[in-house]
Amino acid sequence: MQNYHAPDEKGFFGEHGGVYVSETLIPALQELAAAYQAAKKDPAFWAEFHNDLQHYVGRPSPVYHAARLSEHLGGAQIWLKREDLNHTGAHKVNNTIGQALLARRMGKKRVIAETGAGQHGVASATVAARFGMECHVYMGADDIIRQAPNVFRMKLLGANVVSVDSGSRTLKDAMNEAMREWVARVDDTFYIIGTAAGPAPYPEMVRDFQCVIGNEAKAQMQEAIGRQPDVAVACVGGGSNAIGLFHPYIEEAGVRLIGVEAGGLGVDTPSHAAPISSRAPVGVLHGFRSYLMQSEDGQVLGTHSVSAGLDYPGIGPEHSHLADIGRVEYQAANDDAALEAFDLLCQYEGVIPALESAHAMAWAVQNAPKMGKDQVILVNLSGRGDKDINTVAKLKGIEL
Ligand SMILES: *Cc1c(COP(=O)(O)O)cnc(C)c1O
Repeated sequence: MQNYHAPDEKGFFGEHGGVYVSETLIPALQELAAAYQAAKKDPAFWAEFHNDLQHYVGRPSPVYHAARLSEHLGGAQIWLKREDLNHTGAHKVNNTIGQALLARRMGKKRVIAETGAGQHGVASATVAARFGMECHVYMGADDIIRQAPNVFRMKLLGANVVSVDSGSRTLKDAMNEAMREWVARVDDTFYIIGTAAGPAPYPEMVRDFQCVIGNEAKAQMQEAIGRQPDVAVACVGGGSNAIGLFHPYIEEAGVRLIGVEAGGLGVDTPSHAAPISSRAPVGVLHGFRSYLMQSEDGQVLGTHSVSAGLDYPGIGPEHSHLADIGRVEYQAANDDAALEAFDLLCQYEGVIPALESAHAMAWAVQNAPKMGKDQVILVNLSGRGDKDINTVAKLKGIEL
């Protein structure tokens, strides 16, 4: 793609990305960038990565023709990339395996992570147990109460969950605290970031680990239907599952790429988490520059989504660049549309999707009927919905 820039030596994708952190963090990020560039060129590193993805995560995850749902909608054929079948139930483990292997290669025996809904905390605690590393997960005090089952999972896996009492006592404060801890103990500590965001080299590194999704899908679709899909769709929180699917397709001009943001109660209300669809301005948060939901005086705005994993005011820098050059279209699915798609997938396919993934499904549900029966939509089913059944029950007014 002519205008595509992936990232330059300063970590910019076009005008997004970079390194916006305090002086004290620069040496740690430089050490990480050098270690990652060396690992990236080392076939032994990737051999180990793929060995773990195969035997520990259970990859390759299949592509699956949702034939009954497609028939019901009466248009395009819907295929699902089944990241929900991975060990731990989502795509996040692809990234935490990669970062844990890099930590080990760098001689770090202690990992830290931040988490909001707890999914990345669990994925980090999982790999820390797998590799025999000490693990500390920073979590806002309010999130610890809201996400009790995931807090218990992390503890079962041997992690220490650190309660963060500052600020709004949620993800953004946990992230600040994890960064502070990293500065204090950079000699023996590796910071595992959970999405394709943060200061360089994280967005590139997380993307590279998640590209297993798109690389597998390309080979699998070729084998299954003898060609590539007309459309590939993924939900976008920070953007890691989406960039993992999209990146291998960037040069395939025939494949339309759709990123689905969380529309919440509507992008024309204050209650959403859709920076690109709501035309948010560029800003800086958590060490990088990208589209960011903020007030006129630059205060980061509160967000809302029915799915905790999409509830983030920013978006990974590569997505902002792909939006700028028009290679990926970003649209929003509201809470209601996601819940409708959630029910349809349960009832027509026997698959309970994560509420995050239900946003990508919502695009397919809305658009498949307008397309021909010989056209194909590939949806990244980023995770399974077992974690969400309490939320869904509550919204339906059912007590469990
Ligand atoms: C965390 C999560 C997401 C959102 O994160 P991205 O980095 O945007 O992929 C999406 N789906 C599931 C199942 C998740 O757990």
